[in-house]
This record gives sequence, structure tokens and C-alpha cells, in this order.
Amino acid sequence: MTKVKDIYKYLDKLAPFNSAMDFDNCGLLVGDMEQDVRNVMISLDITKEVVKEASNNDIQLIISHHPIIFKPLKYINSNSVPYMLANSEISAICAHTNLDMADEGVNTCLADALELNNIHPLSIYKKEYYNKIVVFAPKEYESIIIEKMSENGAGELGDYSKCSFSSFGLGKYLCGKDSNPFIGKPNKYEITDEIKIEMICKKCDTKNVISAMKSVHPYEEPAFDVFEDKAIRYNIPLGLVGRLDKAMNSKEFAYYVKDKLKCEGVRYTEQNEKINKVAVCSGAGGDLVKDAFKCGAEAFVTGEIKHNQILEANDFNITVVDAGHFKTEDVVIERLVKMLSKKFSNVKFSKSLCFNDKIKYIS
Ligand SMILES: [Zn+2]
Repeated sequence: MTKVKDIYKYLDKLAPFNSAMDFDNCGLLVGDMEQDVRNVMISLDITKEVVKEASNNDIQLIISHHPIIFKPLKYINSNSVPYMLANSEISAICAHTNLDMADEGVNTCLADALELNNIHPLSIYKKEYYNKIVVFAPKEYESIIIEKMSENGAGELGDYSKCSFSSFGLGKYLCGKDSNPFIGKPNKYEITDEIKIEMICKKCDTKNVISAMKSVHPYEEPAFDVFEDKAIRYNIPLGLVGRLDKAMNSKEFAYYVKDKLKCEGVRYTEQNEKINKVAVCSGAGGDLVKDAFKCGAEAFVTGEIKHNQILEANDFNITVVDAGHFKTEDVVIERLVKMLSKKFSNVKFSKSLCFNDKIKYIS
């Protein structure tokens, strides 16, 4: 039976929770990692209506984009969403800014929905730094150590996983009089065959990888080193920029966005006669106007933009299309349903039917 933790691990690989922005609160926010899961609902938000819909449909887990707990809670009343979830024995995993920035995340879905080509990061939120961990162990422990370290995030290199390098050598050591050596005897100098295992891991995963390695290492004092690996950097992008198949003017482009994102209406500025390069940032992305300019974008599509940011875009001669917070993020839900259904064939994933865009447009 699939458990909450299995789906959590998959999501953590897809959009690492520790890559979320500092202010954010992502991960398993309600429930139990060990809970069995048969039916999962996915929704941008978890409202009271969504919880009711879930409990009427035998849902054990809801995955949402916006966190249900953001600020520290001082009191949980029986009418609050966290209480209702716990009361209905429904777990909740929230994947917010980590999902915005993931390769298969919200911004990628937005760029794909707008059929942009040649996609690049709009801005770099942060760089991921790596360490190299070197472990010395008896040969017969090689596989289990590599396996355990991999399970905790070591050995990930682009599309490759469980990457390691092993070499053979002689370990030499004098066992102390009170020691209890796995190989050798107290007060004796020992020379033994050893394998040296090298694996990389993100700096933030180093502690977990080391304790996982120690949990299966047979030595009384596991021998290992940690070095900063300056060769590997992974940039976490904020927003994306890409090209349209054919150029269009501001009004045509606004209609294009409205059509592609199935919006009831959009707000836009009349700025450009020829739009080819487009920057996107799902949700509240108005802060990235300057980055859109630096990337040479002629248009910027986002879900929320303030008056002063619109003026800033005008100064940069960038057309702004505000397609609404909901529509710029809703694009990720179907993709999550699809990817999760493919990975967990014994679990039914569905999109919440009751949660939709709260904004209506009149003309
Ligand atoms: Zn949002």
C-alpha cells in the first residue's frame, strides 16, 4: 500500500522542499507520513469546501500549492482547515515556492501553456552548493553504503542518480587498548583491504547523508571526509523566459494569453508592436519586471502586478499581461495529476472540482 511518505519522497525529488524560499512553509503540514493512501486530491488551495469535498470522496491526502499553515498558529478552532483535516484524518502536503521553481513546476507549465520555445531562467533565486563525501569501508559494505547514502540525496547529478566512484586501497590503523575494532585487535597495528567510496550531495543534505552512512557502516569509528565540491553548482531559477513562434502586438498577445490560459479576462498594457520574447512568473511576480527587461523580454506575463510595477514596465517598454493569480498557477495541477498517476498506479489522483477562480470579470 502506498503511504504518504512515498508521495512526499516523489514530490521532494520533483521539487525539493528545502529549495523553497526562506519565508515559505512547505512539506507535510498536517497528518502522518505512515498513513496509507488510496485516493489523493490536488488543489491550488485547501479551503473548507475542499476539505468537505475530500472527506466526501474517501481522500486520504490533499496536495496543495499554497500552504495551509503560514504564520505560527496560536489557536486552532474546530472551523479551521487544519482542524478539519485532522478531524477527517486527511493529510496535507503543500508544495509552494519549491514547486514554482522546479524543472517540472508551475513556471514551466505556464511557459508550456503559452507554447514558448527556447526557455531559460528569468532570474536566479539561489545557487545550490555541493559537498563531496569520501567513505572508507570493507568491500562487502560498498553496496549498502552507496544505497543508504543515495536514499538520502547523495549521488544526484543531472538526470543521473546513485552516482559514486570506488577505488581499492589499504587501510592502516593502530587499535586503541579499549577499542572494539570490526577488523583487528586492541593494541595491534592493522593493515586491511578497504574500499574508498566517493559521492556528492547538496550541502543541505550532508548531515542526513552522513548519519545514513554511519547507520550501516560496520566500524566503531567510521572513517570519512567531507570536502566542499567547487565543480558542481545548480542554479534555482525564478521565472522563465522564452520565445513565441510568431511575433504579435500587445493586444494580440493579451488575447493569446487569455486564450491559452482559458482566462475569463486579462489586464494588459499597450506597449509593444512586436512581441517575440516573453518572460513569465506565476502568481505574484511583479517584482521581476526589471529581470524581464534585463533578459530582453518584450512582454511579461504574471498573476499579480502592482501599479508602480506597471509603470516600471512602461519605462522599460515591456508589455504587461496580468492573467490573474489563479490562472497562472492552475496550469500545474493537471500535470501533477498526470505525473503522480503514472508513478503510483495503485493510487487515484484527482483535481478538486470545487476549487476554482474566485475572480469574475465584467466588461
Ligand atoms: Zn500563488
